[in-house]
Amino acid sequence: MPAVAYLEKLNDAQRRAVEHGSDVPKGGPAGPLLVIAGAGSGKTNTLAHRVAHLIVSGADPRRILLMTFSRRAASEMGRRVERICSQVLGPNAGIMTDALAWAGTFHGIGARLLRMYAEQIGLDPDFTIHDREDSADLMNLTRHELGFSKTESRFPTKGTCLAIYSRAVNSETPLDEVLKAHFPWCSAWEKQLRELFASYVEAKQAQNVLDYDDLLLYWAQMMSEPALAEDVGGRFDHVLVDEYQDTNRLQSSILMAMKPGGRGLTVVGDDAQSIYSFRAATIRNILDFPGSFDPPADIVTLDRNYRSTNTILAAANGVIELARERFTKNLWTERQSEERPRLVAVRDETEQANYIVEKILENRETGMTLKQQAVLFRASHHSGPLEVELTRRNIPFVKFGGLKFLDSAHVKDMLATLRFAQNPRDRVAGFRLMQLIPGIGPQTAGKILDAIAADPEPLAALQEIPAPPRSGADWPAFVDMLASLKQGTAGWPSEIGLARLWYEPHLDRVHEDAETRKADLLQLEQIAGGYTSRERFLTELTLDPPDATSAESGTPLLDEDYLILSTIHSAKGQEWRSVFLLNCVDGCIPSDLGVGSTAEIEEERRLLYVAMTRAKDYLHLITPQRFFVHGQNAQGDRHVYAARTRFIPATLLQFFETTSWPVVAPMSDAERQARHQVRIDVTARMRGMWR
Ligand code: ATP
Ligand code: MG
Repeated sequence: MPAVAYLEKLNDAQRRAVEHGSDVPKGGPAGPLLVIAGAGSGKTNTLAHRVAHLIVSGADPRRILLMTFSRRAASEMGRRVERICSQVLGPNAGIMTDALAWAGTFHGIGARLLRMYAEQIGLDPDFTIHDREDSADLMNLTRHELGFSKTESRFPTKGTCLAIYSRAVNSETPLDEVLKAHFPWCSAWEKQLRELFASYVEAKQAQNVLDYDDLLLYWAQMMSEPALAEDVGGRFDHVLVDEYQDTNRLQSSILMAMKPGGRGLTVVGDDAQSIYSFRAATIRNILDFPGSFDPPADIVTLDRNYRSTNTILAAANGVIELARERFTKNLWTERQSEERPRLVAVRDETEQANYIVEKILENRETGMTLKQQAVLFRASHHSGPLEVELTRRNIPFVKFGGLKFLDSAHVKDMLATLRFAQNPRDRVAGFRLMQLIPGIGPQTAGKILDAIAADPEPLAALQEIPAPPRSGADWPAFVDMLASLKQGTAGWPSEIGLARLWYEPHLDRVHEDAETRKADLLQLEQIAGGYTSRERFLTELTLDPPDATSAESGTPLLDEDYLILSTIHSAKGQEWRSVFLLNCVDGCIPSDLGVGSTAEIEEERRLLYVAMTRAKDYLHLITPQRFFVHGQNAQGDRHVYAARTRFIPATLLQFFETTSWPVVAPMSDAERQARHQVRIDVTARMRGMWR
């Protein structure tokens, strides 16, 4: 292997991780490797270099499986790999990295493998995938059918039922233990829940739908059959996973089954950034990784941060040092700066929005683009007032992890149409569609769906069904449209046009803003053009929907400059020159919903650490002193006062420049304490605003 420029840019530890197993000929699989290190230490970068290095050394890119946390992260990784490869391979790099076809999220990869192996595991390859909302709907239908909601008025809600189910499945823990540990108030319903979950599973199977959890569960099941496991695992020489701290037990057991013995396995993560335990993710996966193999996995730790200035890093280190449990070491950096992160007191959320807009525009004056700046928040609804202000001032933005383009009813209707054509047993999709037709209510819809589900050719059966009373010309139009989609004569993605033509009269009938909604559907058609088939499109969109934007329809053009708004969860792995964190107050971070146990509080602390470590040059933590809440009781509308987040106690103030804005003197802590008459639940109040 000749000395290559890209290796020289790495530090020794990174290089060790990249070259791990280089003595194996032709980029063949080496023993298992764990890279464990703090934020911004170059873990993702090292992983990209490792993949590139494998390819350059002769590994077959089609036999590399790369799993990341989001589709965005996967495509970013693909671009990085290509850039690195091109240093050695020149223009041929593109061909090699295009062949890197197995890069995606755990769920996305699971869906692809399950379709591929559907016949061997008794699945119908036309299965459709339910998103969380669809799953909750099906849980609800099932619950009603069993009569639990009627007879037992205090039976857990559909959302809670789904959360319990999901937790049990993902942590591979028996129901009674899950209830005791996480949902003690539901323990009385254990028997009924068990019955409900059994029926829910049956309903999914009868309807040929899988929910998010199933993608992992079926994959794991598939891997428990030795012959299949060997075949699936044998497709790949190398399996690499980023953000391993946020995987759950099911995911780690899949991984172990893909590569028993660990040859070819590389995982990368940071225990201090574990923020998904509410989805049963566990840092035990990282900690137990080395010892799962004989001989144990090699471990590489990185301790130099390349992202942030020393002042930002000192503050972030300060916050995470107060954590109860921690395994990775503190980081150091060579990036010196005079400017400490700012802790900015503002009067209220309006001032908070004003402050951010002012600073963002100031930054832009100095040459920092909008794209180099981001505003982060603990909960999606926190950004409401800021979104209003940005829109008013015509500053384009894209919001990650918020309300999705796909959450709007008309887009969901359109997707349900495609889903139903693909899989007419999908009851949630069927219910949604049928009720768009005049004269058809839930009961009629239910009967029609029952009738066709029993038929081996459900769509053919649908054509035989007499038009329901009062459905007029809409019924034959519906049936014909589905028949055309099934025949597939229009081809992909033109068939969306057929569905749209059928659907638009409904929009005209029901919505005043039909024209805007039609524009969204055109946009959907455009997005669809980027996928090779209906099935691929539906799968990818359900698993990782596009983000919401400020533009009325669609994402701003890629070359346009826009600001990023993101929940902290969705900001994982990313970095910006300037980062603003909203609502750095108790009640928001930690969220009032997250202070039930020490473990939850610790997770909130790690969230703050993740947020702070996204910043390269400038970091602003903003603390509004009061929130306006709409009265929900006799007290009426009023202000409530909030205190600085408990994760930045007085001892850490030395790391910050504390300022207030506008220049009006802020209230002192004592003053604020005095006015802090009632214990407030800011989060719940603010959620109330959106109900
Ligand atoms: P996180 O924990 O947030 O996911 P990470 O450990 O994955 O962070 P990266 O995103 O890979 O870190 O890298 C952080 C920044 O440091 C990136 O801008 C990257 O380009 C840069 N970087 C990483 N390694 C080096 C290096 N050896 N020399 C120069 N810059 C580097
Ligand atoms: Mg990373």
